[in-house]
Amino acid sequence: MKYFIIFGPPGAGKGTQSTLLIEKYGLRHISTGELLREEIAKGSDVGKIAKELINKGQFVDDKIVLDIIKDQICNRDSTVRGFIFDGFPRTISQAEAFDKLLLECNKRSVNAVMSLEVEDKLIVDRIRKRAEIEGRKDDSSIETILNRIKTYHAKTEPLIAYYKEKGKYHHIKGDLPVDDIFKNICSIIEGLKNE
Ligand code: ADP
Repeated sequence: MKYFIIFGPPGAGKGTQSTLLIEKYGLRHISTGELLREEIAKGSDVGKIAKELINKGQFVDDKIVLDIIKDQICNRDSTVRGFIFDGFPRTISQAEAFDKLLLECNKRSVNAVMSLEVEDKLIVDRIRKRAEIEGRKDDSSIETILNRIKTYHAKTEPLIAYYKEKGKYHHIKGDLPVDDIFKNICSIIEGLKNE
């Protein structure tokens, strides 16, 4: 069982690359953002809490996010070959809890973190374009977008050092055409020794 993380700022192209990866490698895609949007659409208690925070560009509480992750990875059937985590972990405390959970539930650890690096200016342009196509509420206001980028730098970027120290971090240029980025990610995956 493989555990890959696709990492990067909002609008970096994590979702797009995840779609290509699940098709090629038969991985299961776990996007905490998508799972939270499903809760919002259902109108569940979790969804009600998440909605307020997401629309302001803030993070949802660790407890909620970790419960979602636990539900997805513990007691899974063994036909799943691996997972790709998109938008998780997003803080050091989530990463620490994730390491613990993987060890306790599955006696495993993260195999690799693929980090899409993109400049802030390009992120804003991409999210504004996505707003027209997908109509996500948190993409519709510039204030919320800027808040998400600020939160990324403050809370998520420190994960780069966290995974570098563990030898799991792989840098990928995120401002290339989709297919080129995909090729670069695939060569990282294929270059990993069989763990
Ligand atoms: P993006 O990568 O464009 O920010 P996502 O779909 O990954 O989009 O996330 C949308 C929003 O959902 C985030 O801005 C945040 O409010 C919430 N969210 C998603 N994942 C997490 C997480 N791991 N921890 C806390 N909040 C999260």
